[in-house]
Amino acid sequence: MPGQAQWDESLSARVLLRTLEGVEGLEAQLEDLRLRYAEREDVPGVALLLRCCSMLTSGFKQLLIEDSRRALEAPESDKRRERRIQRAQTSNRPVELDGNLEASVALLRRFEDQLRLRLELISEIHGQPFDAISGPYRRLAKALPGDRDIEIIFKPSPATLYEIWFKVLDDLRVLAAARLGEDMAGVFDRLPRLMAIEYPWHYERDTFMHAVIAHEIGHIAFVNNQKGDQIWLDTAAGRLDTKLTAGYRRWFIEFACDMLACRMLGPAYAIALIEHTLGQNIWFEPAAKKGGTSHPPLRTRVRKMEVEVARFFQSEDNGQPLHDSLKVAKAVTDHWMKMLPDDEGIPGIAEPVIDDALEKLGEADILGEAEYAVGTFRDQIPAVWSALTAGVAPAEIVYGRDREPREATDPQVRSSWSEPCDWRSILNGGYLRWLAEDKERSLPDLLRRGSALTNERIERCAHIQGSIELSELHRAMLEQHKALGQLAVQIES
Ligand SMILES: [Zn+2]
Repeated sequence: MPGQAQWDESLSARVLLRTLEGVEGLEAQLEDLRLRYAEREDVPGVALLLRCCSMLTSGFKQLLIEDSRRALEAPESDKRRERRIQRAQTSNRPVELDGNLEASVALLRRFEDQLRLRLELISEIHGQPFDAISGPYRRLAKALPGDRDIEIIFKPSPATLYEIWFKVLDDLRVLAAARLGEDMAGVFDRLPRLMAIEYPWHYERDTFMHAVIAHEIGHIAFVNNQKGDQIWLDTAAGRLDTKLTAGYRRWFIEFACDMLACRMLGPAYAIALIEHTLGQNIWFEPAAKKGGTSHPPLRTRVRKMEVEVARFFQSEDNGQPLHDSLKVAKAVTDHWMKMLPDDEGIPGIAEPVIDDALEKLGEADILGEAEYAVGTFRDQIPAVWSALTAGVAPAEIVYGRDREPREATDPQVRSSWSEPCDWRSILNGGYLRWLAEDKERSLPDLLRRGSALTNERIERCAHIQGSIELSELHRAMLEQHKALGQLAVQIES
């Protein structure tokens, strides 16, 4: 081929050199990130990711150095190189790098691409206003039944959407297995499953809106133990053909995650979903009435959640009338649940199948400890409400000290005088109370006050963040107390 230089050792050496420089650049970037997050104990997911990336980077670098040494000590024979160049010329493809190094460099390039994606993920992570809720949401995911621990990274995104990235470490594991051996891959299998949840960065301080995250955690619950998919396949069998079963599976998953989110977080989730989508342009697109390929139409999603939301306000089961604060909260919730115009719904044939599958899902134990008990909601919302009215942080449920100490539900964790308020009660109470005030305002007033109202909401959210932080602290102290108590028993015995 005229004008084409032959591939020789010096060119191989340069390719190697550049590759090594690339790896060292990555190492420096990793070190930068490690230093940046060194002080933050609240981001174990970031620390986990950095640890994995560093481990792999040094593994791959070591391999590259060994390969190049081998190539220098035993250079490719002239005959073999000739054959390779000939092959490349007849097939009209570019001449390959020295055969000994080719695989090493190619794999390293793939690794570099994968690694840069992950570094992008943690180049910017959640800020301080999000801090108060990152711990509770992580704990919610960890409380789900499953065979492995879960860790989550929260990432602000420029897009106006909430999204989950399930398999942050999986592609890295594949690369590790391919070149560093099954032992290294085995290390990955013993680590927690690392996921990332993206949220709109401009909502950073809007704690109420972040209730949408419960849906993303619903996705984790759905795939854990593969129960969700099996329920869909069993229910659709014989009722929908293969194409429809596959087609409506994605809609079923979204309905299912909405349901699971309501059960984990309460009415706040359903309302936040409505509020969130009000700010999106789907309302101006006629196609939105039909739903997309991945998500069902929104009004239909809300309709499917009505039963789940209503459970939190049902008073018949204990025969007690609802507390006044719960009556107001119920009125606000009903108002929001009925706000959206009707859409096209689900085509007739699929709807009963989806409903049956949702019912089965509701009966299966998918959430375990992560479920937010209706009783807790009803017990705690009145206390949260009255604390907010008094301008006090609704972090603790205090029982009167003038009475006999009350029988604690769990004597190890709960003191008989007071207990930390469940963070979800603080969130629901704060959110619903804010919306109740909002409902009192007339439309012209709402529009006139515009950004002032936004600031007021952000201030309210800050109050809720502080309250959640307090209750979490209280909870952590009680847990430590319990752990120390157990230690004392061990020492005595
Ligand atoms: Zn979803």
